[in-house]
Amino acid sequence: MSTRRLYYDDSFQDNFTAQVLGCEPLSEGDEGGFGERWGVFLDQTLLYPTSGGQPNDLGKLGNANVVDVRDSDDRILHIVDRPLPTGRIEGCIHWPRRFDHMQQHTGQHLLSAVFQERFGLVTVSFHLGETVSTIDLRGPQPSAQILEGAARAANAVIFEDREITVRYGTAEEFAEQGVRKQVDRPGILRAIEIAGIDLQPCGGTHLRRTGQIGLILLRGCTKVRQDWRIEFLCGGRVESATRSDFAALNHVAAQLKCAPAEVASSLDRLLREREAASKRLKSLLPKLAEAEAAKLLADSSPRADGLRVIAKLLESVEPDYLQHLATALCRSEKAITLLADTESGAIVFAQSPTAAKDMNALLKQVFAQFPGKGSGTKDFARGALAGPANAPAALEHSKSLLQ
Ligand SMILES: [Zn+2]
Repeated sequence: MSTRRLYYDDSFQDNFTAQVLGCEPLSEGDEGGFGERWGVFLDQTLLYPTSGGQPNDLGKLGNANVVDVRDSDDRILHIVDRPLPTGRIEGCIHWPRRFDHMQQHTGQHLLSAVFQERFGLVTVSFHLGETVSTIDLRGPQPSAQILEGAARAANAVIFEDREITVRYGTAEEFAEQGVRKQVDRPGILRAIEIAGIDLQPCGGTHLRRTGQIGLILLRGCTKVRQDWRIEFLCGGRVESATRSDFAALNHVAAQLKCAPAEVASSLDRLLREREAASKRLKSLLPKLAEAEAAKLLADSSPRADGLRVIAKLLESVEPDYLQHLATALCRSEKAITLLADTESGAIVFAQSPTAAKDMNALLKQVFAQFPGKGSGTKDFARGALAGPANAPAALEHSKSLLQ
């Protein structure tokens, strides 16, 4: 016996009475690993099963929680968290979830109709997600003007508060009336009509008037295979998204110390200033390196073999600074420079050619003890330690290897 789908007749009813025809424990594979589950069949139900891009309703049957609802041929399988006796039972649906689905789903009908009628972009699929819903459009890439035009046109229909009705008829009858998506199923079909805008075969749950959609907000357009995926929100989801967007905007405005409306220009200015500051810093690095090199050379003295080994541990310097400092130090005859940064783990070993050691070989020897990556030439080698905390020990080790 097929299950009578009460939501076909009235998608605004939220409680009902039914007969439990059967209740069977579900096997491990069916229950999805969330504890014990039972499958229940009723003679009629208000609970919508996942189908046609719209997720299932949740609700209660007696004391049992309905955790999933699925189509099972022409019957509807209710998956519940406790067994139910056969016989009469009261049921209800979780109304906020149902109403949210109706807002997104009815909004989708309207949006798809506008894209098709005004811009020739046909909806090839629809997905109603937990947070964001999508339609996939086939055709050329919708421009920013088309996206804005579609959103404005759809919202204008919402403001007109047009009537939405359920109609029944054959595929031929609907085809004559200009149905948006032709189907060739035999028998009587169910279709949803938005007065003067759209006629679309659908078995889902919908609102009574376009005003109940509230508002449609387009959130993005990306290419998915050959189609264009439009992300959109309707109704209550627009309100939450706008609230969280505004909180984020206010946070940024407070950080930038400007009004929310001035965030874009303030951010552009800040980025320009940052770029200029970065350029100035880069131009100062060689000069700073020259000055520090002069001081390090003055404070150092050559070893008995004539080599001047300068080892210096640095902390959080600009990545290029090690190179500038090493270059400046190695202008001195028979100089060897060993530099390491404790924050990044960066290492530079360099020598003036007259020192006649092998910096690349030295780096490899250090990495044998303290893992890291890098390479170079006989006179200049650079790399980074896997563990920056090893920088002091690695520097000491490199010094001892040069004894
Ligand atoms: Zn629908």
